[in-house]
Amino acid sequence: MPLYEYGCGICRAMEDHFRHIEQRNDAPLHCGKPMERHITPARVMGDIEPYFTVAADKETKKNLWIHSRKQHREYLKRNRYEEAGDDKLDLPQSTPESGESESIDLNSL
Ligand SMILES: [Zn+2]
Repeated sequence: MPLYEYGCGICRAMEDHFRHIEQRNDAPLHCGKPMERHITPARVMGDIEPYFTVAADKETKKNLWIHSRKQHREYLKRNRYEEAGDDKLDLPQSTPESGESESIDLNSL
């Protein structure tokens, strides 16, 4: 059952209520009047902003434009680079990733 957010048009109080989808407009009462249902946008994590690499790719000896998180991960992994600015994590050096065998066509960059 989805959670709906309602707001009181008089005192501005906000309340969350579980409702069946068909009953989503069945608003609770507040200050003697039905509350208004609020629409909360879904939070979607976007992809990274494109960036030009600071270090050269070891295969091509060139710096590259990185356009996605996947490309970013593969670039770091391929070159054995580590992201700067993060706390050092004590993780094993090679963790096999399953299902990620797509390679980057460097000629298209
Ligand atoms: Zn109220």
